Amino acid sequence: MGKRKTKKIKPKAKPRTSKISSQFDCPFCNTEKGISIKINKDAKFAELSCQSCEAKYATTCTSLDAPIDIYVDWLDRCREASDPNAPQEFPTLTSAMRGEESDDED
Ligand SMILES: [Zn+2]
Repeated sequence: MGKRKTKKIKPKAKPRTSKISSQFDCPFCNTEKGISIKINKDAKFAELSCQSCEAKYATTCTSLDAPIDIYVDWLDRCREASDPNAPQEFPTLTSAMRGEESDDED
């Protein structure tokens, strides 16, 4: 006895920023961490873009959404868009790649 583990428990003060950045691999140009995702929790809006190719995605999100959620959602939509049997209700990635961004409705 005698050895006493002293654990300093300091509450980590995380800076409260409304924007969280995160990076993921791009499935289109295979750039590692090429995809960066920004979530604006105040505006409940998330943006995804690749630094190497023109891949882009923007969506609304909830305050509970993490960047990975946006990324997975984007992959799902890309898959739907490339599936000839899927209903084309989303702007396809190709149109996003041409820079034809759809306007926000509000
Ligand atoms: Zn890319």
